Amino acid sequence: MSLNTNRPKVALLGLILESNRFARPAQREDFLSLTCLRKKSLMDEANSRNSSLAIEFVSFVKTMNATGDWEPYPILLMASRPLGPIQKAVFDEYCSEALDALTDDIDAIYLCHHGAMVAEHLDDPDGYIAREIRKKVGPKIPIIMTLDLHANISDTMCSSADLICGYRTNPHVDQFERGQEAAFSLRQILSGQADPKVAHVKLPLAPSSITLLTGTGPLGEVIDYGQRRQAELGGKIMNVSIFGNFIFSDVPENGVSIVVTARNDFDIAKNLAEELARLTWINREFFVRQLTPFDRAIEIAQNQNREPVIFSDSGDNPGGGGTGRTTQLLAKLVEKGVRDVLYGSFFDQKLAEEAMGLGLGSKFKAVFNRDSVQNQQWQKYDEPFTIDAEIIGLHDGEVIGRLGIFSGRKMSLGNCALLEINGIKVVVISERSQTADPIFFEMFGQKISNAHTVIVKSRGHFRAGFKSWFNDKDVFEVDTVGLTSPVLERWDFQNVPASSFPFDQDAAWSI
Ligand SMILES: [Zn+2]
Repeated sequence: MSLNTNRPKVALLGLILESNRFARPAQREDFLSLTCLRKKSLMDEANSRNSSLAIEFVSFVKTMNATGDWEPYPILLMASRPLGPIQKAVFDEYCSEALDALTDDIDAIYLCHHGAMVAEHLDDPDGYIAREIRKKVGPKIPIIMTLDLHANISDTMCSSADLICGYRTNPHVDQFERGQEAAFSLRQILSGQADPKVAHVKLPLAPSSITLLTGTGPLGEVIDYGQRRQAELGGKIMNVSIFGNFIFSDVPENGVSIVVTARNDFDIAKNLAEELARLTWINREFFVRQLTPFDRAIEIAQNQNREPVIFSDSGDNPGGGGTGRTTQLLAKLVEKGVRDVLYGSFFDQKLAEEAMGLGLGSKFKAVFNRDSVQNQQWQKYDEPFTIDAEIIGLHDGEVIGRLGIFSGRKMSLGNCALLEINGIKVVVISERSQTADPIFFEMFGQKISNAHTVIVKSRGHFRAGFKSWFNDKDVFEVDTVGLTSPVLERWDFQNVPASSFPFDQDAAWSI
């Protein structure tokens, strides 16, 4: 291996998927429809304006460009929208291509992953990749990994990577800073200023995603405290990452993880990780939250004498593997005659295509989920729904995110339509995405400020996109059906450790 620290050759790799065990398996097409780029085309997209790539990847490349000379060695970046386990054949192909491309003259590797991937044949494919890469390149080549806050951390990941850098915000609005941090850290390692040591503590605490916001709540508190302790310890700590886990992956690695990377002293990392783990454990009772009951949400929607509100259709969040197709809440709103609602977004390509064909101003019988056979686990909540509708908006779905997690990011939503259904304006899209940005409505000229009730198929990330209009008190997380229902008792988890809180209220842990 070369030790070229003046112009380091850095391999760029990534396989990004958040797997919901109950959702449809992720196939090759699911990556092709979002991100599957190699070599020069990968670098061109990373360096382009409003890149469609994962923001931390773009930021890592830009920061490396800005902080000195380097030789980017772009291999392959694949990303799918959240789905089920990745198919074995797709995973194996990725691994072969990645490992074969790692030549002897590489100085470092950047791995851009989510960290909550499941494969058809593996519970910890993120860890598997990191370990195989480590085996191939040997112990001396730095491997830097960025991960989502919802990653399910394994010891394999922590022993294979030199530095793990997780998002610190939820909604996730710090990917740019984390990509920067990863690049700065790599520069320090390559220049000999750091010989990082990673410590990991896993807690038997497996909370639902709905309790993992960082603006308020126990996870945000411990993340903030971790940053304070890092500052107090001077330069001894390189990174503190606290991962909330993604419960729907249903893997043995489910559980909150504290990952601390010290500049060169493992004991300092271990002590801080344990300190933060103890603080998190003391606060475990706060990792539980109640939803707004379905019927109560309907009452709120019916009430015309109140301030505008926003509902999360929390059971059907495409950002967590939901289909984006459940219609039960829409059907009930129509039945109860609720009006003045903006509701987005239903993933129904056939319906959007039909609307495109009929044209603006047409009235027709809209059939949602016409092709749902509901004979698969992941389709069972996708009830067909037929209703008279008028087409009041059409769009090609090429947009740039405006606020929150998609801000500045190019998105292709395919054919899109806005349907008026008894005073409810319903967005239909052709690429499954969570409605975390007002652009989903604004692309049709709709103003969020004009709506009495906004409903989004998004579990938490919409908060960042819609905070200009709604405070926390105006947000209602509605107990709806779907593959991301945060009511954990409803799910038959097979692999989440049963002795975890809140599944086991008497769960015990100590160092
Ligand atoms: Zn996440």
